[in-house]
Amino acid sequence: MEYKHIKEVNMKEKIPVGILGATGMVGQQYVRLLQNHPWFQVVYLAASPRSAGKKYGDAVAGRWHGEENVPESVIDIVVMDATDIESAVARCRLVFSAVEMEKSAIALLEEAYAQNGIAVVSNNSAHRWTPDVPMIIPEINAGHLECITLQRKLRGWGMGLIVVKSNCSIQSFMTPLYALINAGYPVNRMFVATLQALSGAGYPGPSAFDMVDNVIPFISGEEEKSEIEPLKILGRVEDKGIVNARLPNITAHCNRVPVIHGHTACVSIGFADRKPEIKEIEQIWRNFRSEPQLLALPSAPEQPIIVRNESSRPQPRLDRDVEKAMAVTVGRLRPCTLTDVRFVGLHHNTIRGAAGGCVLTAELLNAKGYLN
Ligand code: NAP
Repeated sequence: MEYKHIKEVNMKEKIPVGILGATGMVGQQYVRLLQNHPWFQVVYLAASPRSAGKKYGDAVAGRWHGEENVPESVIDIVVMDATDIESAVARCRLVFSAVEMEKSAIALLEEAYAQNGIAVVSNNSAHRWTPDVPMIIPEINAGHLECITLQRKLRGWGMGLIVVKSNCSIQSFMTPLYALINAGYPVNRMFVATLQALSGAGYPGPSAFDMVDNVIPFISGEEEKSEIEPLKILGRVEDKGIVNARLPNITAHCNRVPVIHGHTACVSIGFADRKPEIKEIEQIWRNFRSEPQLLALPSAPEQPIIVRNESSRPQPRLDRDVEKAMAVTVGRLRPCTLTDVRFVGLHHNTIRGAAGGCVLTAELLNAKGYLN
C-alpha cells in the first residue's frame, strides 16, 4: 500500500503489532497491507497449532493469495500458536485478530490478550454485541472510541482494549447511508440485497462445483448481521456502553456469487421526513469527508465515497480497488417506486471490509492516543 500523507518515521519508533490468524484469507491481507506501514511494524504472527512452529513462508506455501510474493520482512518469522499469549506480551502492543474458531473461544482469546495489556482490533463477530466494545467504521462513529475508558474501568484492563469492525456485508451501504443522515436526512427504512464475493467465506470457501454458473441465496447469519449491526454503529455512547439507534428498519437478502473479491449491495431507502433531490444526494456523497480524512490517517481514502454516473457501474472487477481498495463506490442512483431512492454500492470485502478497515481503526486509535 502507498502511504501518501505521512512522512516516513524511523523504524525504531514504529509500534510493534501482531496478526492472529495470519495464515488465513484476511490474515494475509494484513501482512500485505502492513508492509512498509509508517506507524506499525509486524513482529508477531500467530495461527492454529497446525501452523505453529513453521516459518511464515512455509505455513502459507500453496495457499498464499497475494499477487506479489510473501514479503521478505515476514517470510522467516516463526508462526506462534494464537493461544500462547505470553509470547505476544513481550513483543507487541496491538494485535489484529482474524482467527476462525468457535465464537466463544475467540471472545475469551481476545479478552485474554486485552487483559495482558494488548490492544485488540478484531474482524470477528464474537464481541460485536458486547455493549462496552465499540464496533467501528472510522468514517462514521470514531466518537464511539470513548467507550474504551468505560471498558478499561469495568474490566480492570490497563493498556488493553478491544475494538471490533462490523460485518463486511454492510460496508457497501453504511457510509453512503450515514453521509445522508449526517447531512440532515434521517432514513427510517431500507431494503438491501447483497451479492457477496467468495473470499468473504475464507479459504477455500464454497467449492468451484457449487459456485461456477451459480448463485447461492443464503449465507449463514449474514442477513441478521446486516439488519442489526447498522443500529449499533449509528447508536450513542451512554453510561453502560453503546445504546443502539432505533432506525432505520432494515430488511436484507444476502447471496453468495461467483466473484473473487468485492461485495455489491442493491439498496432502496426511505427518508423519515425531508427528502433530498437526487442531485443533492450525489453532492452529499461526493463532498463527504470525515475524521480519517481530517486526521490524514495513512490508510484513509482521500474520497471515501466515489460516485459513478455510468448506468453499468459499480462493478467488482472495475471498482473494488479504487482508492487503495478503501473507498465505497456508488452508482445507479435513481428514484425508487417503493421507497424514495435506490442505488448500488460496492466495496472490497477483504480490504475495506476486513483487514484494511481494521488497519484504519488501529490508526485512529493511535491518532487519538489509545495506544500510548
Ligand atoms: P480463513 O481464511 O479460514 O483463516 C482462518 C485463520 O484462523 C487461519 O489463520 C487459521 O490458522 C486460524 N485458525 C483456525 N483455527 C484456529 C485455532 N484453533 N487457533 C488459532 N488460530 C486458528 O478465514 P478468514 O476469511 O481469513 O476469516 C478470519 C476471520 O475474519 C473470521 O472470523 C471471519 O469471520 C472474519 N472476516 C472475514 C472476512 C472475509 O472477507 N474473508 C471479512 C470480514 C471478517 P491455520 O492456517 O493454522 O489453520
